[in-house]
Amino acid sequence: MQRPPPTESYQPTAPQRRWTTARDRGCRHPGCQNRAGWADLDHVVAHADGGPTDCANLCCLCRRHHRLKTHAPGWSFHLDADGALLVTTPNGVTRVSRPPGIGFLEPFELGGPLSDADIVSVMPF
Ligand SMILES: [Zn+2]
Repeated sequence: MQRPPPTESYQPTAPQRRWTTARDRGCRHPGCQNRAGWADLDHVVAHADGGPTDCANLCCLCRRHHRLKTHAPGWSFHLDADGALLVTTPNGVTRVSRPPGIGFLEPFELGGPLSDADIVSVMPF
């Protein structure tokens, strides 16, 4: 499946949604097991900050982790060109999740999944 072109719209196109969902298969937050059917497509660099609606800037996040990324202070998300998502907690711990849809079998590169305690302790809701 060829990567669909970017769009000027905020909303991803149907081909972008299919491609990103096929790449990610589920929420890309390290350690999260929620399936793509429950996930939002997130602009890793916010659309309001100039982030394009392009598969290179979109990833699947479940509603919980989408809210965490959007509203919790101190978290950092970066999507590499190869689809690796780097998530850094407010404490400076970085985890990488690789998209299973491009053939990487191990979801974590730099350690184990983030514990719920890491996540819950900084969530404002
Ligand atoms: Zn999630």
